[in-house]
Amino acid sequence: MDKKKLIIGNMKMYMTSGDVKEYLQKLNLKNMNEQVVFCPSSIYIPYFLGYPFQVGAQNISATTLGAYTGEISAEQLASLGVAYTIVGHSERRMYFGEINEEVHQKMKRALDHHMVPIVCIGETLEEYNAGKTLSILRTQLIDCLTGLSLEEINKTVIAYEPIWAIGTGKIPTNLEIEKIAIEIKKILQEVFQSTNVPVLYGGSVSSKNIEQLEQITSIDGYLIGSASVKTKEIEKILEVVNH
Ligand code: PEP
Repeated sequence: MDKKKLIIGNMKMYMTSGDVKEYLQKLNLKNMNEQVVFCPSSIYIPYFLGYPFQVGAQNISATTLGAYTGEISAEQLASLGVAYTIVGHSERRMYFGEINEEVHQKMKRALDHHMVPIVCIGETLEEYNAGKTLSILRTQLIDCLTGLSLEEINKTVIAYEPIWAIGTGKIPTNLEIEKIAIEIKKILQEVFQSTNVPVLYGGSVSSKNIEQLEQITSIDGYLIGSASVKTKEIEKILEVVNH
């Protein structure tokens, strides 16, 4: 039987505590399982624990426990039962100067505490138009993953998120996503001898395009931003993916 797709909700900084409580009251748990992961703002993580889905962080500290005001470490998240963390999201790269070296450190911290790092990679519109997508992805993968053991690489998840598709309503064609997911898997195999890493697609996934995206055979799930904070949207997406 096919492995269930991994569905990650990146809830960004969209909700207040009232919104979170209302969301969790309304959410239909019918299609929720261990392959569904919600990543709320860290202060709301405790609200999301104890459901049939898993919980992830949107970011973690590159350092271990210590005198780092305002940071949240992998130890702290893991001790709450947080199983995943997004690392290297393009918004962190763009607005907070996160570079591949830091993404690598964060992956290490997560893996050291048995959390799954969801590593975001993707090209800008300019790079896409210049035909540089694959070389950008290759560099990001090599810079983020080099130095990890094969066992560690096999515990990670890669999310291909073209930056120009995030929050814009524009998405690549199915053929483009298909080809890129295959290329990512090829790089992982050739450079790291890994054949075991799920590759997700992220960028403007919604209830309107999920049926179309489901035609793609080479992706292992989705990273979903704004649609994940609307219960009706995420429920519809899960309904389509699970049937
Ligand atoms: C994201 O930011 O990871 C994302 C996929 O956003 P959206 O779905 O809103 O485009």
